Amino acid sequence: MATVFKTAQQFRTVTSSEITLSQLMLPTHSNFSGKIHGGHLLSLMDQIAFASASKFSGSYCVTASVDRVDFLNPIEVGELITLKASVNYVGNTSMMVGIRVDAQNIQTGEVKHCNSSYFTMIAKDTSGATMPVPRLQLTNREQVMRYLKAAERINARKQRIAAEPFGGDLNQALALMASEHTDVNVDMAGV
Ligand code: GDP
Repeated sequence: MATVFKTAQQFRTVTSSEITLSQLMLPTHSNFSGKIHGGHLLSLMDQIAFASASKFSGSYCVTASVDRVDFLNPIEVGELITLKASVNYVGNTSMMVGIRVDAQNIQTGEVKHCNSSYFTMIAKDTSGATMPVPRLQLTNREQVMRYLKAAERINARKQRIAAEPFGGDLNQALALMASEHTDVNVDMAGV
């Protein structure tokens, strides 16, 4: 199997970043319709992203961005959710942590996929300044694929941020609003 050698920097394996967290969903985690609050899930995802990034980098970490959170299936009270996380990609001071959330009905054993999200975490030193993170050692096909998907996601995000409709031309934007977005009204007279 081919090996790609890099400079003599410190490398750490994806395995060294892996974390698994399971929690039984209680009535206190539910919303008014009896399903688990999205906010509770987000909080657990943020915790595991922190733990994975911090374990990998050996430093304190903060959340920079989340790409993206789609709630694929509702979670019921009494289900056991499991979050699995690993660092998929590293920048100079950042790490992309992938998280998968599954929920299991513990009586039937049925498992449903609830969420897959990618958190960008930044390493900080004790003074709060950003600090470099170790390089990533990939050891199997899945890790290479996840690394490349993360790189693509970062590029797509940069393009999304750069793109403004019609290069920012307001007249063209208003023409489109008038022709296609008829469920909103634009009145800029008071601006
Ligand atoms: P994928 O990113 O296309 O592989 O989509 P998945 O939904 O399978 O997983 C989302 C992310 O969760 C992955 O990119 C990993 O970072 C993480 N992940 C998935 N499975 C595992 C696992 O078994 N263990 C750990 N530690 N992390 C996992």
